[in-house]
Amino acid sequence: MRDKRFYDFLHRQIPVLMVLALFPGLGYLFLGWLNNVFVPAFAWYLLVIAVSLWGYRLYRTFDFAAMGESRRDRWYRQCSWFVHAFFLLWPLIFLLYIGQDAYKLHYIAIFTEIGASVVASALLASDRRLYRPTILILMAPLIVYFFFIGEWYGYVLTIFAATLTWVLLYAATSSHNLLMQTYHQATHDSLTALYNRQYFIDHLQTRMNSLSESGEFAYLLLIDLDHFKTVNDSLGHDVGDRLLQAVVARLRQQTPADAVLARLGGDEFIITGGDFTDQAACGQAALELSTSLIAKLKEIYVVDKHHLYISASIGVSIISRRGANAGTFIKEADIAMYEVKAQGRDGVFMFNEEMSARVESRLEIERLLHFAVNNAEITLHYQPQLDRAGRVVGAEALARWNNATLGAVSPAHFIPVAEQTGLIVELGEHILATAFRTLRAWHDQGIELAQFSINLSMRQLTHYDFAAQVETLTQRHLDAGLCRKLMFEITESIDAEDINQVILVMNRVKQLGIRFSMDDFGTGYSSLSYLNRLPLDEIKIDRSFVCVLGHEEDGQAMVSTIINMAKVLKLNIVAEGVETAEQFDFLFRHGCQLFQGYYHAKPLTNEQFISYYHQQ
Ligand code: C2E
Ligand code: CA
Ligand code: CA
Repeated sequence: MRDKRFYDFLHRQIPVLMVLALFPGLGYLFLGWLNNVFVPAFAWYLLVIAVSLWGYRLYRTFDFAAMGESRRDRWYRQCSWFVHAFFLLWPLIFLLYIGQDAYKLHYIAIFTEIGASVVASALLASDRRLYRPTILILMAPLIVYFFFIGEWYGYVLTIFAATLTWVLLYAATSSHNLLMQTYHQATHDSLTALYNRQYFIDHLQTRMNSLSESGEFAYLLLIDLDHFKTVNDSLGHDVGDRLLQAVVARLRQQTPADAVLARLGGDEFIITGGDFTDQAACGQAALELSTSLIAKLKEIYVVDKHHLYISASIGVSIISRRGANAGTFIKEADIAMYEVKAQGRDGVFMFNEEMSARVESRLEIERLLHFAVNNAEITLHYQPQLDRAGRVVGAEALARWNNATLGAVSPAHFIPVAEQTGLIVELGEHILATAFRTLRAWHDQGIELAQFSINLSMRQLTHYDFAAQVETLTQRHLDAGLCRKLMFEITESIDAEDINQVILVMNRVKQLGIRFSMDDFGTGYSSLSYLNRLPLDEIKIDRSFVCVLGHEEDGQAMVSTIINMAKVLKLNIVAEGVETAEQFDFLFRHGCQLFQGYYHAKPLTNEQFISYYHQQ
């Protein structure tokens, strides 16, 4: 356990030992003078001063952070020589005084040995290699001395002294074990017995200091299991714990001998290792290790008759001299890991500057978005939807954010941020209210639409208050007739565990007369099973299928299949992202009912929409 705490402890003992030698040493000098052995006592005291000076030098030169591993090893070796030398001073004074005839000097000699042994067993308990020899060196002369008295009480004292030696060793060993145990608990995780976060950060900091001394590179791997929570939630924490232990067994097996593996918490693990002179080689080794880790982790697990499968997302960062503290590199690996998650999990990414710029900009968006609603920076644009006869029969409300610092931010950027931060609930309410007011105003001006589409986020829909929020807002702004024009667009990205709740909310909202559309249709998965279960009225063919029409056979087949399916399921069908006459013709021929896209009109401001409508 030769870590920082260990060294610090040893370091702190040096001045204590010095004080314990220099002051009582003066007493011995005085006694020596009284008993006519001043000269040898004085010589002994000079030795005490010399050893203390040595200790002082060791004390002063110690700087854990600045010392590399090899310098620390050297320091430790010198320090243990110092300790041995220090405790050898006491048998010396012992031998000097029992060599005298005066009995009082013998008493002092005996007390000296016992006292020094007790001190050694207490102060050196952290290091077995120090306290064991020291106690023996100190007590052995005493035992021998008692034995050679040659009388019965001498033998009894011999036995007492031997027993005391044993007791001191035993006490020091118990303290040592207790220290070790406490140390182990403080630095290890109880479930997996891996090092914990605290230990790892200390270790990383130490490692970084020696790297910056040598100018070498090491890697840092942040490993996060994918969908571990699902296992915990569906099979219980017992199975989750067992799975974690199995995962750790594999991680241990794959971790190189010179690397350190730790559990950061939950299902997050971290590995650091390697010392490379070349940064590229370091990166290469890290990626190879990550790939082999992922492959190993993905093999099937059998826990309690459950056959489990789990993958992992790994973020890599390279440790070099440039970073100031351990946290920086963990954060970098975290950013890279987050990127893996964002791109579908189960993979590895190496941190780079562009990633950090993206994170910065995301944070900036997050910060400014908080004030966007109150500062009236969020507005709505409306994109017309046309029927087969070319009449404007619908509109889709699309959010726009104009910020003084950031300029115009695309909803494709700020909506995901709002979803992740939960801000979507407030933002969504603002969007609904604005859209409802527009619908009302248009109606009052004689603009009669068949449908008015508003985008919803899943996080918004699954918020406990959503249905009530919609009820309140519709009562405030609309009537039953206008409610029936509303079309809420949702996406396929519904988590399996949410689906029942989603259906419940949809049905409650549908009682107000509001309809639902499946947005971006065909881009998610499990489309068919969802289509069956969700109470839908419309599907929107995703722009990605529409835009390849005219030059990709597969795309055409896909679009005509979707349209046919919608007919069978008696769902309305809207094509979005229609940009060319060719695309429009294809869709028209295949029976698509509504068209939305730049071919007819871009998203328009409120006023633009009104005049566009009247031009028709
Ligand atoms: P979406 O719901 O699929 O919206 C259609 C997007 O395609 C809009 O981008 C629209 O401007 C764009 N678009 C329309 N016609 C064409 C075309 O012919 N060609 C091309 N290339 N693009 C076209 P926008 O406004 O940037 O919105 C992006 C996404 O942001 C939306 O995709 C939607 O998922 C989300 N979003 C926008 N407004 C809201 C909102 O109020 N609430 C929520 N929850 N999400 C919104
Ligand atoms: Ca949409
Ligand atoms: Ca869409």
